[in-house]
Amino acid sequence: MECEICGKPVPENNPIRAKIEGSVMVVCKECSKLGTVQKAPPKPKYVKQNKGKKPANTRKRNYSRNDEPSEELIEDFSFEVRKAREAKDWSREDLGRKINERVSVITRIETGKMTPDTKLTKKLEKALNIKLLEKVDNVDLNQFINSSSGERTLGNIMKIKRK
Ligand SMILES: [Zn+2]
Repeated sequence: MECEICGKPVPENNPIRAKIEGSVMVVCKECSKLGTVQKAPPKPKYVKQNKGKKPANTRKRNYSRNDEPSEELIEDFSFEVRKAREAKDWSREDLGRKINERVSVITRIETGKMTPDTKLTKKLEKALNIKLLEKVDNVDLNQFINSSSGERTLGNIMKIKRK
């Protein structure tokens, strides 16, 4: 902010407004002596509160889109993990020990409450000798994203596959 008369910098946080020759101007301390200093109007209390606050986009996707379109976690990974573990006659503790994860992590994966990240998925694949990642192209991925907002829940998928 600059003084409208002499061009000297005026503190942004505390500009001086002076009425000079009938008009109110932002001026420096020196130039304010030329006119009548105006009292700053009381700051409106609530006007600025929401400024700059956009509603946070909290929607998270577990799907990577353009950056890594080639491999995605299969839809019934939780079922596959459990099936493979039980086939090996391992407890969740056993599996957890083998991939160095807590039992609670295994439980959440097997109940579909948690989506393992790529690193964990690879560990599961290796330990259980199963495939949890499938190749997808962008079209399929988008179709899946669109349809996943409908009634296609994990539970439904599991029911279908178990038949
Ligand atoms: Zn000035």
